[in-house]
Amino acid sequence: MTFDPTFLSNLILVLTAFGGAFLAALWVSLVIWTYRDIRSRARDPLVHTLSALLVAVLNLPGVLVYLILRPPRTLEEEYQRTLEEEALLQALEDLPLCPGCERRVKDEWQVCPNCHTKLKKTCHNCARLMELSWNICPHCGVPAPGMRVEASSVDDALRGLKMNDDPGEVKIK
Ligand SMILES: [Zn+2]
Ligand SMILES: [Zn+2]
Repeated sequence: MTFDPTFLSNLILVLTAFGGAFLAALWVSLVIWTYRDIRSRARDPLVHTLSALLVAVLNLPGVLVYLILRPPRTLEEEYQRTLEEEALLQALEDLPLCPGCERRVKDEWQVCPNCHTKLKKTCHNCARLMELSWNICPHCGVPAPGMRVEASSVDDALRGLKMNDDPGEVKIK
């Protein structure tokens, strides 16, 4: 087996060409990757160009610098975060306020733990919670004690008084 100097130099040439092509492809793909990545994280076109330039000039060290400096969250993640925060705020705002002390109270509370204002009453028939103004239980349909369903509002009560008493002597006690 004899060494052909031309063959050896050709081999080195081919290997160098392959290595160079690989390095060039790696360089270009790093720039493309950076450009895509920064586009998902920032809206400013200047930032896009600067990031791509940084990696184009410095290559691998540039990628390292970019990874340190890039915004931690993508625009999509940022959007999801805003949605979650808004949902949390909405849930807080939906909580009713205590009429006594204006602190937030929960729907299932009967009494405000802070100022002891009565918030809800229970149905005497099924023991479920009712608003204080309700005269009839919406769960079981039984009227509150001492309350006739027909005379469930002030208007109805007044009408009842007028029909029973003399027209000139309507008194509300
Ligand atoms: Zn209160
Ligand atoms: Zn009931």
